[in-house]
Amino acid sequence: MSSMTALERTMTVIRHQIPDRTPVALHNFLVTLRYAGYSLGEGLRDGEMLAEAQLRFWRDFGQDVIMLENGVIAEAEACGCQAVYPADQPARIVEHVLANGLEGVEALVVPDPYTTFPMCEVLKATRILAKEVGTQVYLMGRADQGPVALAAALRGWEKLILDMTLNEQPELIQRLLEFCVQVQRRYMLALRECGAHGTSLGEAGVDIIGPRLFRRFAHPYDCQLIPSVGSLEYPVALHICGDSTRILPEMVSTGAQILELDYKTDLATAKQALRGRCTFLGPVNPELIWAETPAGVEEAARRAIEILGPGGELILGAGCALGANTPPENIHALVEAARKFGVYRADGSLVA
Ligand SMILES: [Zn+2]
Repeated sequence: MSSMTALERTMTVIRHQIPDRTPVALHNFLVTLRYAGYSLGEGLRDGEMLAEAQLRFWRDFGQDVIMLENGVIAEAEACGCQAVYPADQPARIVEHVLANGLEGVEALVVPDPYTTFPMCEVLKATRILAKEVGTQVYLMGRADQGPVALAAALRGWEKLILDMTLNEQPELIQRLLEFCVQVQRRYMLALRECGAHGTSLGEAGVDIIGPRLFRRFAHPYDCQLIPSVGSLEYPVALHICGDSTRILPEMVSTGAQILELDYKTDLATAKQALRGRCTFLGPVNPELIWAETPAGVEEAARRAIEILGPGGELILGAGCALGANTPPENIHALVEAARKFGVYRADGSLVA
């Protein structure tokens, strides 16, 4: 029997040491609300419901990492964008505060996360969970969007991609991305003050902006932000969806303690690129976890552990957010797969 708590197990892999077994993280903010019987529209706006739903889910599923968030709108809405919260879908931004031009950046003010909705609700949920779970489980207070992803939410995706491609107003783009770094840094630090053990940011990857814009606009600002917040005491996870194989060297060089990568990224290449530098979180396809049988989920998790598990530095999880309707038995299968296939010998090799 293991004497490691979920928090110890997770911190062990982040510190490049060998745990008793692979820890599991669930990217489950939507499915927790559904499981608790709450409407997404209500739950995503309410810190108490967010916390209650995560707690109930953790007690039933026993994962090692709680990934707390309310989606991809908290920072943009706090900066003045208009969001809608449908009853049964993730919240989304419908009016972009910079829709009329990049010049509007001069009037933007970095929001106080403690008093500005909905950041203040996510902070409330963080405080509740920190009090309830204490040192038992790794509490990741997720800080929403990376600099380019947040800039896109403020400006609108098409417009920002055009701005970056034409680059006719380079000073204003720079001003906007610096503003986004400030918003994020403040939010990430507030999450820590409220008791999170670590944080994260979701950045736009090559599937959305291509490698050229990624290297020119996202990477330099990720490099400004991440080392100014992250450490082995407060790890930062960099989340990028899609095939990130080509930008693995850049992602590693940000200094992020964790890279959240999905199944489209070449796993063996990633294992090589991350070794000794970052922990891999992922990569199981959330659509597979939704559509497959428990046996199918177990097999996908087994294959991922086989490639990514040796030597540690793996937190098993979904490569991106689980849909609200993901069957609970498939999530149990994912958690169980780590117990079945992720057990280590002292030299870092896997028992199974
Ligand atoms: Zn994603």
